[in-house]
Amino acid sequence: MTGFWRDFLTGLTDLLFPPSVRCAVCGRETAHPTLAFCPTCLSRLPFLTPPLCSRCGRLLRLATRREICPECERERLFFSRARAVCLYDGPARAYLQEVKIRRSLVLARALAGLLARYAREESGLFRAYAVIVPVPLHRERETERGFNQAAVMATAVGEALRRPVLDGILIRTRPTEAQRRLDRRERRENVQGAFRVTMPAALAGRRILLLDDILTTGYTASECARAMLRAGAVEIGVLTLTNGSLEENWSTGGENR
Ligand SMILES: [Zn+2]
Ligand SMILES: [Zn+2]
Repeated sequence: MTGFWRDFLTGLTDLLFPPSVRCAVCGRETAHPTLAFCPTCLSRLPFLTPPLCSRCGRLLRLATRREICPECERERLFFSRARAVCLYDGPARAYLQEVKIRRSLVLARALAGLLARYAREESGLFRAYAVIVPVPLHRERETERGFNQAAVMATAVGEALRRPVLDGILIRTRPTEAQRRLDRRERRENVQGAFRVTMPAALAGRRILLLDDILTTGYTASECARAMLRAGAVEIGVLTLTNGSLEENWSTGGENR
């Protein structure tokens, strides 16, 4: 059979009998053709619901009447606003750790699909952004892991929003330590000056949507934003799969305040 007929027949079969998608977590069949999570694994994810900080997208305490969270009142960051889909907690945290430890591209793509679905549903929030840029890994780290999960997410969101993804326009010039092991001051210093734009002309005069898997202190995203603003970008928004507050992690330990 020629390639053409084989492709044609496969296409026809897929149309009549859609290939079953298996849950990236438990392996059960999913009911949804484009979402790689079964209803049970999907329902376990801690999706963010209002009230959220209008600036960084983190959960606000229910009692507060403010629109801005304490983190945003204290810190001046270089991106204009950030949004996330889930809290960095429970299964969302476990799935992201799984991506890193097992180097699971299947799970990374499944999570990217979730982010893409959110971007499509909330497309009004992202219409102004002309270009999508993933937070880069250092070259050595990316070789070690085999892929950059932020770039996997950027690709999925780029398709959902029909925007070009410029992977490689922003680079990490030195290997940085994992932020999770550091305190607030160390986190800031760890990423300071760690990013560089390779082709400023591609960003000049444009609004950029920066993609990553997690936002905690926001310092990494802020440093990326700073590098892109210096290169001539007019505004940086951030979209991450998860967000979390450093203070909450610390207060549960009862130290480091
Ligand atoms: Zn499942
Ligand atoms: Zn905030």
